[in-house]
Amino acid sequence: MEAPCMNKLKQKEFTLASLTDLTSSSSSPVVATFSCVDEVTELRFQESESADSFSFDLSSAQLFKLGALQLVCVCDSSNSTKENSFSRGVVIKFRDEKESKDFCDSFEEWTKDAVTKGSCLPNGTVSYSSSKFDNKIEAASAKMYFHYYGQLLHQQNMLQDYVRTGTYHAAVMENRSDFSGRVVVDVGAGSGILSMFAALAGAKHVYAVEASEMADYARKLIAGNPLLAERITVIKGKIEDVELPEKADVLISEPMGTLLVNERMLETYVIARDRFLSPNGKMFPTVGRIHMAPFADEFLFIEMANKALFWQHQNYYGVDLTPLYGSAHQGYFSQPVVDAFDPRLLVAPSMFHVIDFTKMKEEQFYEIDVPLKFTASVCTRVHGLACWFDVLFDGSTVQRWFTTAPGAPTTHWYQIRCVLLQPIHVMAGQEITGRLHLVAHSAQSYTINLNLSAKMWGPGANQGGILQTSSCKLDLKEPYYRMSQPQVYPVAQEPPAQPQDLQIQSDDLEEVELLQQNTNAQF
Ligand code: SAH
Repeated sequence: MEAPCMNKLKQKEFTLASLTDLTSSSSSPVVATFSCVDEVTELRFQESESADSFSFDLSSAQLFKLGALQLVCVCDSSNSTKENSFSRGVVIKFRDEKESKDFCDSFEEWTKDAVTKGSCLPNGTVSYSSSKFDNKIEAASAKMYFHYYGQLLHQQNMLQDYVRTGTYHAAVMENRSDFSGRVVVDVGAGSGILSMFAALAGAKHVYAVEASEMADYARKLIAGNPLLAERITVIKGKIEDVELPEKADVLISEPMGTLLVNERMLETYVIARDRFLSPNGKMFPTVGRIHMAPFADEFLFIEMANKALFWQHQNYYGVDLTPLYGSAHQGYFSQPVVDAFDPRLLVAPSMFHVIDFTKMKEEQFYEIDVPLKFTASVCTRVHGLACWFDVLFDGSTVQRWFTTAPGAPTTHWYQIRCVLLQPIHVMAGQEITGRLHLVAHSAQSYTINLNLSAKMWGPGANQGGILQTSSCKLDLKEPYYRMSQPQVYPVAQEPPAQPQDLQIQSDDLEEVELLQQNTNAQF
């Protein structure tokens, strides 16, 4: 359980030399008391010669050192606007350094109970954040992330993904009974489009929660749709921080990133479930699945290997670049490739890993481990693992799937491929095993560890065979967007074929290079 109230009913007192309220100039002897009453950990200031007192909620209080004997304590209000980001501040003066230090130690101890995690900043500021989001996500990453979503052009990009937006619209409209007369929370509302869909489906009230500056645009857009506006409230803030006046019957959200989990917004979605959804409430979407299959793509492999060839220059304006060749090669192979590929590149039937949004705990997203097992359909060189996802809207009337699979109408997620540093050789019918291990990091993404193995076919295989194994480590935060690159596959113009029919010339490098030069020339 989060933020337990460890010091319940105990308290600690400090007599201060003086206390100056930042909003007034009066100062008189004061006693400061840390205490925890009714689950609220607070710091109370009581003027010794009067009955006047006030307290700071320690879950949102911050302490700044002005000097050895002086501190500033502010009580933060996460729902307030930037211009008024703390509701009260006091300058605390101590009688000696020991008391000042003791007070800081107590502040640290008591705020630890009041918040999940705190941090000591190098400039001497003792700072504690009460936000579950801020505690696990780097501030720089969050700033860029919300800056990105604060721009209309990026919301437009999502709105213009008609496969995505159209599927959400259909899923809501064909399940009107789930929305009609219900309280809905739109988790990460962006432009507010899903809130308006919910209102169109008859929602009693929709709380559209959006952390970025897009919240202001959403207000404007919603206000321009007066029939819906009276049933939608836009709340600017993070799901992890905001308070809502009532519980929701339905959560609606579009929290999916590349490989489903990128951006770590699924964690926000399940936090919203735990904070705001009534028991037996519905989640749109309800379940997600990561699909995976090994692929063979000689063109892609060569394209990636070629990128690092620049660093083979031994005389680049008189400079030998080769010392960095290995690092450059590794760098390119640490980028997952994002593009829409021909499903005929898949060399085995796919498998999937289910993520149930109604059950998954937030912490379970921190590390996702998927054992892999495939049976190759063709004899080929496997270059890596292709992944895509789908989500289910488990409505009371209609169950609708939204897929980003190769061969299905393309979405702005495309598909993702993890390319091995070394391909592995397989025969038709051969088993490919391995592991996809995803580890979340504080830049709102994941480190991907992929391992694929196959036992060599032929004599000796029965006695254990020779195990080929290949792996790669990639950063999901740094994908190689390949959509603008031409993709020329010899089989692309032919009628759809089964994986068994797949034939790619893997050894004729000259032909591949020639093809690439020709196609590049078109752009
Ligand atoms: N629902 C909109 C936008 C989806 S994009 C649509 O379907 O078009 C995801 C949105 O969630 C972004 O606008 C992003 O700023 C917001 N978001 C991400 N994490 C959030 C959080 N922790 N709290 C509130 N909003 C968040």
